[in-house]
Amino acid sequence: MVHVLLNQVDPVRLARKGEKLEGALPLQNFLRLAELLLDNTGVADCALQFTLDNRYRPLVQGSVKAELVMECQRCLGSMSVLIHEQFCLMPVTSTAALKEVPEAYDGIVLSANGQLSLHNLIEEELLLGIPLVVKHPEMCVKIVGDEDGSTKKS
Ligand SMILES: [Zn+2]
Repeated sequence: MVHVLLNQVDPVRLARKGEKLEGALPLQNFLRLAELLLDNTGVADCALQFTLDNRYRPLVQGSVKAELVMECQRCLGSMSVLIHEQFCLMPVTSTAALKEVPEAYDGIVLSANGQLSLHNLIEEELLLGIPLVVKHPEMCVKIVGDEDGSTKKS
């Protein structure tokens, strides 16, 4: 059974407790990504570890895996693109605080009530993971139309 993650989490609280979240987010939640997909019925598998750094600042380390069905830019046929992104983020409470984020991490600004949107985070990572050019790796397979003229009966 797929465990669907909540969208909004409190990363500071989770980091103090050293929590780990694992689960899935349905691809159909991602509206920006949806424009690029031929099929959005799948899920993104996510794993997130919340920790504190040596100065007690929250960190979110994680990974996301998804198989995206996209259009080949050469033959316009469908192809699946495997995305596997890893990230290490430091949540901060304001854009000004982004300047204090160490170089090893990417800063992410929390909403005014201190919440982190996992939807936005994961969608952003998936978008980053999509190759610039989406093409079948070697030859494009000629698309054969479905010929369901006669259904076989025994
Ligand atoms: Zn192709």
